[in-house]
Amino acid sequence: MLRVADFAAGSDVGRVRRANEDAYYLKSPLFVVADGMGGAQAGEVASELAVESFRRPLDESAAPEPRLAAAVQNANRAIHEQSRSNEQLQGMGTTVTALLLDDDSLTVAHVGDSRAYRMRGGELTRLTDDHSLVGEMVRRGAITEAEAEVHPQRSILTRALGPEAEVEIDTLTHGVRPGDVYLICSDGLTGMVADQVIAEQLGSGAKMQTVVDELIRLANEAGGMDNITALAFTVEDGAGAGTSAPQADEVAADSTGVGPAVETEAHSATLATPAAVPQTAAANGALDAAERDSRSTAAYERRRASTGRSRRRVGTVIACGVVVIALAGAVVASLNVFFIGGNDQGLVTVYRGLPYDLPGVSLYTRDYVTGTPVSDLPPALSARILDHRLRSRADALDLAQQIDAGRIDLQGTGGEPTGSTGGN
Ligand code: CA
Repeated sequence: MLRVADFAAGSDVGRVRRANEDAYYLKSPLFVVADGMGGAQAGEVASELAVESFRRPLDESAAPEPRLAAAVQNANRAIHEQSRSNEQLQGMGTTVTALLLDDDSLTVAHVGDSRAYRMRGGELTRLTDDHSLVGEMVRRGAITEAEAEVHPQRSILTRALGPEAEVEIDTLTHGVRPGDVYLICSDGLTGMVADQVIAEQLGSGAKMQTVVDELIRLANEAGGMDNITALAFTVEDGAGAGTSAPQADEVAADSTGVGPAVETEAHSATLATPAAVPQTAAANGALDAAERDSRSTAAYERRRASTGRSRRRVGTVIACGVVVIALAGAVVASLNVFFIGGNDQGLVTVYRGLPYDLPGVSLYTRDYVTGTPVSDLPPALSARILDHRLRSRADALDLAQQIDAGRIDLQGTGGEPTGSTGGN
């Protein structure tokens, strides 16, 4: 029988944002982090709705995975319905990552790009997949982790709570060992602090409050570009652990200085009075400028145009289904991202859109076909050029025309104008 030995959480607005749209909830052995997105304060409403779903009694008769999944699905429904019925909340969404320790296993329910990590025996393991465009590109081998971290589209989510009536949820159960340290965090931490540094902190042996505070400090020191939330806990053998194990409820969490009460209240106020949310164009503009370069998906732009409001963060779900098929043509036509691949004839081709096929529909159209067969490119060069990396049209066309003109280095040692792929 294992139990939580020490836990702590912290959330910080960071150094750029004006508001904190992250939320967390802990009622050991249940731990939840949500990272909201949306215009004005809609992101705060979304993340608060996500954690509120876990504040309600969960179905104890269900196994841990369906129990957590039901809470996530309920949260999704609540967010989706509110965003449809309240113009000010239109398009809001949130990530959610929930961990539940149950005897000697840990169940994870997860949607979005907040992450769960486990530190065991000096080794850091990521327990969640990022449901983001770059996360999927990494899993397909199109780009490296290092490239993903600086990718201009790194904030685009492929799954979130809110955009659709139903959401696909990742649920997993892991074996737990005494001494394990777990972390849940928003991308305001992982976008700023390398995994290696996170591993050092989790493995430091310090109290969880110290670890959490230090992680948040490090994210701010690195720029604090986004809201930062970290929630960490350690697991020990229940036998002989005495009274040190906090079988905590929210009150106990407060008494350890960890409680989510302040944040919860702030979010509740937003929930109760969404009509009172100030719509300050200047404030929206400032937020907009801070993240403009990460907001270039057509799907996102489509939603933005439909509400006439700025969005704090790109958050869109590219989902399978009739709606997507109907919209795909318009989406692709308005996309301003390009990638290079081979066409049916094997010629190097510039495509507009995203390098994905959904059932019955492609998310790209042909933009420019070179006269150069892919097979003419040396493997090292084709691996770099045909990597499906998203490029500007100027970059993609420049590259294609250099290939056609024979000006590109066919030994694969140069000729990549942007210089940001391959060897780094
Ligand atoms: Ca975030």
